[in-house]
Amino acid sequence: MAEVRLERVRKEFGRATAVEDLTLTVRDREFLTLVGPSGCGKSTTLRMICGLERPSSGEIFFDEQSVGYLPANKRDVAMVFQSYALYPHRTVEQNIGFALKMMRVPKPEIAAKVRTAAEALGITDLLDRKPRELSGGQRQRVALGRAIVRDAGAYLLDEPLSNLDAQLRVHMRAEIKRLHADLSRTFIYVTHDQVEAMTMSDRIAVMSDGKLQQCAPPEEIYQRPANRFVAAFMGSPPMNLLPGEIRDEDGVRRFRGGGVVLDLPPPVADVLTGAVELGIRPEHVRIADMPRPGYLPGRVFVAELLGSDVLVTVDVGAALVKARVPSPFLLGQDSFVHIGLDPAQIHLFAAADGRALR
Ligand code: ATP
Repeated sequence: MAEVRLERVRKEFGRATAVEDLTLTVRDREFLTLVGPSGCGKSTTLRMICGLERPSSGEIFFDEQSVGYLPANKRDVAMVFQSYALYPHRTVEQNIGFALKMMRVPKPEIAAKVRTAAEALGITDLLDRKPRELSGGQRQRVALGRAIVRDAGAYLLDEPLSNLDAQLRVHMRAEIKRLHADLSRTFIYVTHDQVEAMTMSDRIAVMSDGKLQQCAPPEEIYQRPANRFVAAFMGSPPMNLLPGEIRDEDGVRRFRGGGVVLDLPPPVADVLTGAVELGIRPEHVRIADMPRPGYLPGRVFVAELLGSDVLVTVDVGAALVKARVPSPFLLGQDSFVHIGLDPAQIHLFAAADGRALR
């Protein structure tokens, strides 16, 4: 089993719809991440794939087999939960080998598989310890070990890094990615952290309000978001979004909104006139201390050091525009500046429904 396909899968809890007509194919050996804000239905989707929850309607296929009525233990999947779900009175070795023991795998075989999993995760020296004697990161590895010790067609991971501190999360992100390459199996990963989704995935499925918003490789999600929601959710710091209008003025197609006036050259100008939201990522906003053609005047509202870059928030009148510029940024708060929005890098979204116009 390798490919996981959802066809118009829906899940209702009473009158609330947690997942709405979700159609999605996770390819063989792919690392696909379901990402979205809290409550958007990603955990419910994962629980339906693994068999802990039954869809209200729609079908789930593992390769060509419909698994709708297969219980969790009959599906060829291994799941890692956010809470680790380790047995406190058992050692690391017993925890990792537990599923195999339940499957009546012979003891020497269990020992060998546990050792291989522990080696892959770098925890061979912890095998005799109990969970309470481990750090958060070590517990997380044991939870991963419990899943990878089983040879499953698909590994399902529900926010496995959310209990770890920032540094450890970055480290474990890389480890999980390597694990995926080593095991060469399908991984379906759930997170609300868009940075995790961006860095780890072959493709990202962005969800909101139980609905799939876009499913595409990370670069495409970042560079060509399908709608305003995806544009705003993916990217850190987030994209600037300015409500306004596109009009024809003196033969020029022009955007006006939030204090920003921008002439739109072709092909951007092919977009219809009317109410829109203009989006531009902070890294595509330039700052100058002198006026330049096409630049807009503003004042530095605040400058925040991000490390090698500085995030400068500029007040342009009716809106605040964020620019990400290389450090050092030497102008202080309230300094007069001029900002340039690269017309080739702008996104336009229909005001009515948020769909991307370009
Ligand atoms: P989080 O990141 O907070 O875990 P999520 O995106 O994983 O959120 P789900 O846990 O899938 O979201 O929940 C989707 C919606 O379904 C939410 O509104 C949630 O309250 C509701 N829901 C989930 N499980 C149940 C349940 N067993 N009974 C009733 N409502 C539920």
